[in-house]
Order: sequence, then structure tokens, then C-alpha cells
Amino acid sequence: MANGALSVDTEHLFPIIKKWLYSEKDIYLREVLSNSCDAVTKHKRLVSLGEAAESETPYRIDVRVDKEARTITVSDNGIGMSEAEVEKYINNIALSGAVDFISKYEGEGGSGIIGHFGLGFYSMFMVADKVTMETKSYTDAPAVLWECTEAGAYEMQPGTRTERGTEITMYLMEDEEAYLSADALKPILEKYCSFMPVEIYLHDGEKEELINETTPLWQKNPADCSDEEYKEFYRKQFHDYTDPLFWVHINADYPLNFKGILYFPRRKNAFDTQESEIRLFYNSVFVADNIKEVCPEFLINLKGVLDCPELPLNVSRSYLQNDAYVRKVSAHIVKKVSDRLNFLFNDNREEFEKNWEGFKPYIQYGCIKDSKFNDRAKGVILFEKATGGWSTLSEYLEDKEEGTVYYTTDPKAQSYYLDLYAAKNIPVLVFDTIMDTNYAQFCESKNDKVKFRRIDADLDAIKGEGETDTASLEALFKAAVGKEDAKVSFVTLGKEDAPALLSVSEESRRMAEMMRMYSMQGEGDFSFPVEEILTVNVGSPLVQKLQTLPEGDEKASRIAKHIYLSAVMLARPLTPEELRAYVALNREILMAL
Ligand code: ADP
Ligand code: MG
Repeated sequence: MANGALSVDTEHLFPIIKKWLYSEKDIYLREVLSNSCDAVTKHKRLVSLGEAAESETPYRIDVRVDKEARTITVSDNGIGMSEAEVEKYINNIALSGAVDFISKYEGEGGSGIIGHFGLGFYSMFMVADKVTMETKSYTDAPAVLWECTEAGAYEMQPGTRTERGTEITMYLMEDEEAYLSADALKPILEKYCSFMPVEIYLHDGEKEELINETTPLWQKNPADCSDEEYKEFYRKQFHDYTDPLFWVHINADYPLNFKGILYFPRRKNAFDTQESEIRLFYNSVFVADNIKEVCPEFLINLKGVLDCPELPLNVSRSYLQNDAYVRKVSAHIVKKVSDRLNFLFNDNREEFEKNWEGFKPYIQYGCIKDSKFNDRAKGVILFEKATGGWSTLSEYLEDKEEGTVYYTTDPKAQSYYLDLYAAKNIPVLVFDTIMDTNYAQFCESKNDKVKFRRIDADLDAIKGEGETDTASLEALFKAAVGKEDAKVSFVTLGKEDAPALLSVSEESRRMAEMMRMYSMQGEGDFSFPVEEILTVNVGSPLVQKLQTLPEGDEKASRIAKHIYLSAVMLARPLTPEELRAYVALNREILMAL
């Protein structure tokens, strides 16, 4: 048996770093600047520990481009390096000074130091064929001038720098011309470095411009942030001129350790389906856009920022999908969003109701998709009442866990039925989107003691007491419907009410709707006949008159037919055949007057 440590030949490693380590070339700037930030953060830390003297100049990072010399220079007044440190941290690829520093001075977590892997430094060679670095440690160690070519050959010699800090100069390769202007660097810096913790200045000739906001809103304590600050951050980051509906500021400490702000955008109209836009940061350094993986899929239209210092900087999507930490972050977001919804609901119901329609579809969808979210958020789901106002399910059921919920899908078309429910003081909810119906079915699946019934599904709720002998009428009305197997039933409604109403069983209607949807999706023609039931009102004087007419009377069958067609009209549009029959029937009746 033999043991040993694998050795690495830089000559072979360099091309790999250049080609494969980073999917995007631009990130060399992120890496250089994050090292500069770290250098400053480390110095601050040493000052606070009393191990280094207070800085005499403000901490800053400067980025300069020299077109003639074909160089980009990044300089900082951070901790700097001694010759031994350059030897250790730079000349050793994949040895992270950041990790070393954290273990020495920080203990566990929360250091804000960006470095991790000890590879970032060499990402410069994706664009440069030569890099020089002059660095002077905060100690009295002399300055070092270091130079390295893309072949991985370096030279070190004493430098002339007298001020603490590091200056790195990248000599760009032939075909990396495009980077050689402040205008070209600015968008890259803005993308990755907008929130880095040390002021970054980009120089363009005589001008210098501050690139970043060193304390991003999400890093602040929520108690110290005003509504206006949240709104402004949203407008600026997501270029949305309308204010968001609400937001959640997450500040999770141990064990989860992540921060972020998530916004619910206001929809401009019903068709405005906004894609989520969640930006992932790592200690205030931008990592990636549209990270659906960290946010539950159902929160599809959220916009926001998440800062997850437990994720490595160079995360890939496939990594995120399988990461346990990411799943926990996602679960925590679900909890926070539902907490916030409950808070808004309880804090100002009126305001909540005003905004409800803006996020209703997402919340309902979320509840259907994620039962944990449903458990937490179901209490705030509002249904519109046909008489105006809003009601939660438990308000409708008067806090009982069972009962029937009546709803209308079209208050105008179903207005006759609506009036009957109103007369009995039975509240009716308005379902005006497919999502309402889907959510209702979902509620039924969660609790089989709660039933949702459209107001024309069965007329049990509105019928009166009392039975009448109806045997003689049954045949008459079956004939009026014109079907051998027509379903006819008898109830008592008021004298003034319609002599008959049509109803369609909830199950049969839902089935038909489902089939219609499949057909619409082009999956063949699945028309499904709905079963209409003719419910005759034996309390109606007209029906009572019918009972007095002798069997086989021509008048009786005309009256029954008219009653039937009128009932159809209250329920749905007449078919062309029914319409013709109705017009003919009316003519006959009027002629007989
Ligand atoms: P990481 O940042 O993950 O530690 P890098 O390859 O980016 O790895 O950098 C390696 C090390 O080089 C850093 O940890 C740090 O010790 C040192 N270093 C790089 N840039 C600077 C700088 N501007 N000032 C001081 N030290 C630096
Ligand atoms: Mg680094």
C-alpha cells in the first residue's frame, strides 16, 4: 500500500481554470473586487481586535482602465500581504487566505468575508496574459512586487509601494479589447458589485464614479427600514414604477443564516403574469439571477433579493436543486410569506381586502401547490360575497368545520337563483376565476365535510316545507322536457316564485366542465352531457291549476311546456330548437286568448 497527496501541475491546471471553472468570463472582476473587499474587511477586523492601527485614510477600492497600456488596475487599501503571505496564498493555487483568516479571527459564521475556495484570484487569467500585483502589508513587512504570466510562471521581488494595500494590474489578451473602457466595465461592476461592503470607484479619465451601495437594505435590521426605503429599493432594482403590494424582509440567523427582501408586485391587469425575478447574493456579492430553485415555485411572481452566505459563490442550478440548505431556505420563505399575509390580514383587514385581488390567484395557487403554505395561509383567503364584501371560508361556515358553501359563477346569468338565496338570507360567494373553483375543490379534498355547491346545483337550501301528491304531474312534465328519462322533481317554493327551475347536479356540471377544458386543450372531443333536473314548484298557482285539469288536456301540456322553457331561460340560454319551440308555443297561446 502507498499513501500520498496528489500533486498539481499548474501548467495543466491553468487552462482548466480558464475554460471550465467559471461559466461566465465577466466574473473575473467580481473575483478581484471581492478579494479587495475581503482585504478591507480583514483590516477592519484586525483594527477592532486591536491588532492593527486605525486606518488613516477612508477604505476604498479604485478601478482604472488604461487603453494604451491595455490594462485594468484594481487597487485597495486593505490588509495587504507580506512576501510570506504572497508565497502562501497566491503562489499556492486553491489555498484560501479567506478560510485561513476566518478560522484564525472569526470563529463560526457571520464574518462577511467573501472568499472561500482560493481559486478566484486566478480567474483573471481568463482575460489577461499577464498580471502584476504590488502589495504592502499592514505590518511593517516590506512591499512585494509579484508578476505572473498565463503559463503560470511567477516572479517575486521587493516592491516600492509605501502605503498599506494591494494594486493588481491585468494585461488584457489580444481579443479582450472589449473590456478596455470604463463604459464596458460599469455594467459588469453594477451587476456583481452594486452592494459590496467597500466603496468602489470607477475612473473614467478625470471623472470617478461610486459604483456601490455599501449597506444594502436587506443587510439592515428590518426595524430600521422605512416603507419608503423598501419601495425605493424595489423601484430601483426591478425598474417597476408601481409600488409593490407588500414585501417580506427576512433576517434569518442561526441555523439558517440568510437574509433577503421579497416583494409581491402589483399586477397591472388580469393578464399580467409576471415572472419571478429573484436575485441571489452571497455576502452582498451578486451570484445569479432568476433563481427559481431557492424560492418555492408557486411564489411565481415574487421579485426580490436573497443573500445566502451558506451557498458557495460559484453555485450551479443543478447544485441548488439538490441542496438541503436550499430546501430549508425555501421552506423558511414559505413560512415568512404566510406570516406576513396573516399579519397584514389581522393588522388592517380593510386594506388587505382592497389589495386582495392583486395577489389572490397566487395565494390560492400556492395553497393548492403546497399544503404547508395552505395550513398557514388558508385563514386569509377571501371570497367575494354576492351581496358585496368579503368572507373567509371559516367566516362563511360560522367557525364550523362543516357545511355547504353556495356560490355563483355568474351573478348576472344566475340572478334569479341569487334572489331566491337572498330571500332566505343564505350568503352566496362569487367565483369569477377558474382558480376560485379549483381552490374550492381543493378545500373539499382537504375536508370532506365541507361542500361547495353552485346555487343552481340543488335547490334544497331554498325549498319550503310540505309535500303534495304529484304523480299526475310527473308524466306531464316529462313530456314537456321531451325526454323519456327526463328527471323531474317537486318542491315547494313561494307563490310568487317561478313555477319551475332547472338544476344541474354539482358533480355532473364539474365533470362536463373538466371535459370541456380537455377538449379546449385539443385533446379530442370529450363532450359530456350534463344532467338537468326540472324542479317544479308545487306552491305556484299555475302548477296548482295544472293539477285540476283533466288528464290528456291539450291546455295542460302547453302550460307544462311553457313552464319548462321558462325554467330553462332562467338557467341558461335556449338552444336554437328550444327557441323555435318557445316562439311557436307563445304564438299558439296568444292566438287562443
Ligand atoms: P479566496 O478569496 O477564496 O480566499 P482567491 O484565489 O480569490 O481565494 O485569493 C487567494 C488569497 O489571496 C486570498 O484569500 C487572500 O489571502 C489573498 N489575496 C488576494 N487578493 C488580495 C488583496 N487584494 N489583498 C490582500 N490579499 C489578497
Ligand atoms: Mg477571492
